[in-house]
Amino acid sequence: MSSTRVLVLNSGSSSVKYQLLDMRGGSRLAVGLVERIGEETSRLKHTPTGGAAREWTGAIADHDAALKAVSEELARDGLGLDSPELAAIGHRVVHGGLHFTEPTVIDDAVLAEIERLVPVAPLHNPANLTGIRTASALRPDLPQVAVFDTAFHTTMPESAARYAIDVRTADEYRIRRYGFHGTSHAYVSRATAELLGKHPSEVNVIVLHLGNGASASAVEGGRCVDTSMGLTPLEGLVMGTRSGDMDPAVIFHLMRVGGMSTDEIDTLLNKKSGLVGLCGDNDMREIRRRIDEGDEQAKLAFDIYIHRLRKYIGAYYAVLGRVDAVAFTAGVGENASPVREAAVAGLEALGLAVDGELNAVRSDEPRLISPESARVAVAVVPTDEELEIATQTYALVKGSQNLT
Ligand code: ADP
Repeated sequence: MSSTRVLVLNSGSSSVKYQLLDMRGGSRLAVGLVERIGEETSRLKHTPTGGAAREWTGAIADHDAALKAVSEELARDGLGLDSPELAAIGHRVVHGGLHFTEPTVIDDAVLAEIERLVPVAPLHNPANLTGIRTASALRPDLPQVAVFDTAFHTTMPESAARYAIDVRTADEYRIRRYGFHGTSHAYVSRATAELLGKHPSEVNVIVLHLGNGASASAVEGGRCVDTSMGLTPLEGLVMGTRSGDMDPAVIFHLMRVGGMSTDEIDTLLNKKSGLVGLCGDNDMREIRRRIDEGDEQAKLAFDIYIHRLRKYIGAYYAVLGRVDAVAFTAGVGENASPVREAAVAGLEALGLAVDGELNAVRSDEPRLISPESARVAVAVVPTDEELEIATQTYALVKGSQNLT
């Protein structure tokens, strides 16, 4: 029997998101998530394609128990992880440093390198490692592939990737701009080229991945030349709970004058800033509702969010020189038409405009929202990181099988 299925795992510190895909056509067989792992009220939600969702709440002690529960749910739909049709497991790994520029079959050396990167991704890489170890124990015979969030950005030139700090210090501590959401930026920039009927090598795209985490990238002929996240996913745009760009001296000030500890500042900037810090809400739907009711605080939060976004569009326009398309993606980018409208309002001189009617259309399909006459295409391109991870995983596994 040919094995054409790929299980995609996205393991967080207390959650596992998963999708099972059949790579003959890239169809989804099942999706689900386990959250609040380690608590009494863990929750598993499993949805087989074409079937009803099943939910289960109870104590799931650790990732091992979580993956076993997922495996049981899949087995109930005849999609068990012991199936010979499963070709590989693809893992989202957040930080691959400079070492990993491509998806990689995981072995002990790869595990050690992901471990070595924990200091630069303390929240994410340990959880990713746990997911990999758990899945490997469950199916030791199966190729486990790591697909790195940073890989797409390794093409950035040094002029964009380096911070202007002492070179020796930077090199000693591996301080540089790595960028994140790379799987999404890769997928969306390619899909945007496709929407324009062009090869990725022919187009320059500014990708705006606006989810709870948010990042922009400048993609020149299919290669990333700049991105807004840096050493960690804290830099750049205003996000749901993260500050994005800020004078680093704010941190010294909070330590010296505010008496705050490193961990307190870390929590402040990563979890209590951004939209939630500015107005108490990080969901763009809620913020828009409050603005419609005349809430000034929500309006200011929105304006700060948009101001930063526009600065990045302008910056990446200058980085690229010629821009063929601006693509909006992820939860906010795909759904929030007022964000898209405000992001490019008044930029006609740059060839950017949004057509009000097209912008109001709701759809899951990639689509143009700029008027036909516009010099630069503005597009909404739903991201699909799981499909991208599965595609890269499958290509790697099948490619290497052909070689042997
Ligand atoms: P992440 O993967 O980073 O958690 P998503 O890409 O799923 O985030 O985006 C989640 C965010 O998308 C929500 O916090 C919310 O702000 C926004 N969002 C989702 N649906 C809508 C909608 N219909 N209108 C406006 N914003 C939305």
